[in-house]
Amino acid sequence: MTDTVQIVLARRPAGDVTADCFREETVDLGAPAEGQILIRSRYLSLDPYMRPRMTELRSYTPPFELDKPLTGGSVGEVVESRNPKFAKGDVVMGMLNWATHTLHDGRGLRRIDPSVAPLSAHLGVLGMPSFTAWYGMKHICKPNAGETVFVSAATGAVGQVAGQLAKLAGARTVGCAGGEEKCAWAVREAGYDACFDHKAERDAGAVLDTLCPQGIDADFENVGGRIFHAVFERMNNFGRIAFCGAISEYQDQTPMAGPTKMFTIVQRRLTIQGFIVSDHVALMGDFVNEVGALVKSGQLKARETVVDGLGKAPSAFMGLLRGENFGKLVVKVA
Ligand code: NDP
Repeated sequence: MTDTVQIVLARRPAGDVTADCFREETVDLGAPAEGQILIRSRYLSLDPYMRPRMTELRSYTPPFELDKPLTGGSVGEVVESRNPKFAKGDVVMGMLNWATHTLHDGRGLRRIDPSVAPLSAHLGVLGMPSFTAWYGMKHICKPNAGETVFVSAATGAVGQVAGQLAKLAGARTVGCAGGEEKCAWAVREAGYDACFDHKAERDAGAVLDTLCPQGIDADFENVGGRIFHAVFERMNNFGRIAFCGAISEYQDQTPMAGPTKMFTIVQRRLTIQGFIVSDHVALMGDFVNEVGALVKSGQLKARETVVDGLGKAPSAFMGLLRGENFGKLVVKVA
């Protein structure tokens, strides 16, 4: 008998996610069957992509199921194993339930060395968001020394790494973030040349004209909407746009239309590429080597927000969609 506390999707949101979209329940998971392992969650990653998964709209991942636990990238410890590939005590990373315990068949799980870095780092600066930043910056934005690179959600899990990688490549980096504290950190700690507060500055175009007088050569797009429109209009010839996400649209039931002057793409010979990091797992080793070394040497800094207790996951997730997290948001489950 294994009692687990889990959080299930109780209702699909229409517009903003609300507390009644979630329900906490305690269930008996039973014992692992042949081939299964029982994992105790230690850290759960909360990520923007979970918001589209709460709906039934077509996307690159299937929707969460109603009355079933939500899932997320997690680090956990094997407490019982009937799978020859895993032993009791192994620390593993992969998709687990929003739960204290998960029964798993082991597919897609990766064993990690807990001595390398704090466990939460495997979900942030050494994990999926950082890999996303690395892929988009290195393979799509391809910044050259002296170019101007723009990053929206500049201090988020992805943006903070993207901005620093562009800076390390010798580019001038400009970002936007919500609030003075985040913008100050972006410049002081993450090395952005400038960062503006998108909540205070309503005219993003005017700010960009001041902060990017030479135009924008590469855009790492996390937010979409009005900020993206302003950036798009200021792209230079042969500019690259790595379209990573559009968080401003995830809760918006009437998202704004895209830029109207699409001929700009032709006139300025722009490359606009959407990408999903999971398509590029073959490059994970290169990422770990490059970014792991930067983290170890102190050249790459990363903020995280740790929320204590599984029960706080729903409110923390709602806060993420309002910009209340600073850097990578994780829940310490145990
Ligand atoms: P973050 O940790 O940065 O959290 C989201 C941040 O977005 C918030 O903290 C907030 O920061 C900002 N934000 C929220 N709503 C708005 C809004 N309406 N307008 C402007 N900013 C807003 O998330 P991640 O770094 O993990 O993700 C960033 C983006 O990358 C998301 O769009 C996500 O979906 C995408 N993504 C894509 C992947 C891929 O494979 N393509 C993989 C991982 C992430 P602030 O206070 O600065 O406003």
